[in-house]
Amino acid sequence: MEAAPQGYGPLIAPMSDMQRPLRQQVFECVRAAGAISRAQIAKDVCISPASVTTLAADLIEAGFLTEVAIPREAQDGGRGRPPVALGVRADAFAVCGIKLSDHEHGAVILDFAGRELARLCAPSAGSQSLADTLSTLEHLVAAAADRAGLTPGALAGVGVGLPGLVDAEAGRVPWSPLLSGENVALAAAAEARLGLPVSLDNDANLVALAELWFGVGRRAADFAVVTVEQGVGMGLVLNHRLYRGARGLGMELGHVKVQLDGALCRCGQRGCLEAYIADYALAREASAALGRIGEPELSTPQLLDALHERAMAGDAAARSIFNRAGRYLALGLANVVNLFDPEIVILAGERMRYKRLYAEDTLADMSRLVLATGRPAPRIEVHSWGDQLWAYGAAALALAAVTERHLGAAREEVA
Ligand SMILES: [Zn+2]
Repeated sequence: MEAAPQGYGPLIAPMSDMQRPLRQQVFECVRAAGAISRAQIAKDVCISPASVTTLAADLIEAGFLTEVAIPREAQDGGRGRPPVALGVRADAFAVCGIKLSDHEHGAVILDFAGRELARLCAPSAGSQSLADTLSTLEHLVAAAADRAGLTPGALAGVGVGLPGLVDAEAGRVPWSPLLSGENVALAAAAEARLGLPVSLDNDANLVALAELWFGVGRRAADFAVVTVEQGVGMGLVLNHRLYRGARGLGMELGHVKVQLDGALCRCGQRGCLEAYIADYALAREASAALGRIGEPELSTPQLLDALHERAMAGDAAARSIFNRAGRYLALGLANVVNLFDPEIVILAGERMRYKRLYAEDTLADMSRLVLATGRPAPRIEVHSWGDQLWAYGAAALALAAVTERHLGAAREEVA
């Protein structure tokens, strides 16, 4: 007998993220469209109309989809039987998304269709122990649910975002400026406290998810989000999916080296991008260069605001600090463009309120550092979304987890 032949081509695990069950694909097609006819689903998912009919009947029976009227403007002339479309049963589940931040926490409740039911902001106490963080989460979930007219127990899941290094898959936080201790198993502790499934991710990935679900990223297959806050983060979407790296810790743009033996970064290494443009880096320079406004009673945000005011008033030292930070940001952005060639680069974060100093010069610098290919450069968008919209990313994370649990491959294995 002939020896068994060797196989070639990528070995993709069955029902991996790349091969979602048809049932889930149909559901996600409906959720993305809002309302869509069975005929259009067949075209979009590339399956037969008969398969759509069967799968849709199953999803309606299970309580995930419902029949809705197609909006008037989408009908041709309004003749004949009013066409029927499919929509998500919005009340099937509700989730809570929370963004923990150093100055203000944000929370939002979304229904299963992705629509907002409630939102709130709460002051932040800064860095906390695990026990205090759990109390903060419990309070935010209860208050947001209450505002939506729900009990916390009626929620199907919670998504939490925080700055720092977050291992999303393991639900662990190796390091965060908001959480004392190292490698904290936050997801498991929060699940035990809240009695609800909890998903975690870092704040830059949440912005990418928020853009992917609710923003300009809905229509872009490949885009990058660069956040400049206390630190510098990045979220990367490839082929409509968030890329997290092999160990769930990818895209640490802030720690990409831009100078050998350069400035000391808070990660302990030298020459990281963050060490030139993050808040603490600017504050460090501000204190040194502008002794007078670097008085100890000023917090970092106050110091930066004072520095910004001075720069706008024409102070040369203050301007040089922002100009240098802008040039380093341009260097970081050009590296992102040269590596990934994204369709759009979205700049987000608190520091974007200083865009009058960053914007034009930074973008011009960036264009000079991007490889000249004769093709148009990627679109750069500056989004100064508030924490509320970062919370939307956390809610999207929870919605994706709930969808996966009820419609994904894991569920099929159980069935
Ligand atoms: Zn670093």
